[in-house]
Amino acid sequence: MPVTPVESVSGAAVIAEDRAGVMPPPARADHDHRHCVDGALGRAERICALRGIRLTVLRRRVLELVWSSHRPRGAYAILDNLGEDGRKPAPLTVYRALDFLVGNGLVHRIESLNAYVGCPEPGSSHTGQFLVCEVCGTVVELNDQRVSAAIQDNAREHGFTVTRPMIEIRGRCPACQESR
Ligand SMILES: [Zn+2]
Ligand SMILES: [Zn+2]
Ligand SMILES: [Zn+2]
Repeated sequence: MPVTPVESVSGAAVIAEDRAGVMPPPARADHDHRHCVDGALGRAERICALRGIRLTVLRRRVLELVWSSHRPRGAYAILDNLGEDGRKPAPLTVYRALDFLVGNGLVHRIESLNAYVGCPEPGSSHTGQFLVCEVCGTVVELNDQRVSAAIQDNAREHGFTVTRPMIEIRGRCPACQESR
């Protein structure tokens, strides 16, 4: 009977899980989203521990709610969800938690939707391009350095200093192309 090398198997599983979290196939409805959520929470905990900042119960719960799907969530939807947990916190508390998560790169604000989406690669420095499906709202984050570099170069030629380099690109995700 072959002996399963438990250590390497579980090690591989951890790597696979981590990868599933880092690069989720968000436009696909058939992936196991629990992996995305678990991966995101795990990464957030590691980043906060590394930076010596506190991922409080509320911040963690807000992050979990932002990650409830790959569609950006508005602050009031998050507030409503928190109300379902028990006592509804003050809106300002939720905005502060979101500011904390955005400030630490765990969550991005999609300006055109005035809503928040989880970052699949927090901790790595990036500028972010977002593919936003105009039908279902699913967002895919890209971090193409060529795009960032082109923007920086062109801005520099115009003597322009970029403060918000994020780009939101509208279109249709694969699922919504199929359902037409
Ligand atoms: Zn997912
Ligand atoms: Zn990001
Ligand atoms: Zn879509």
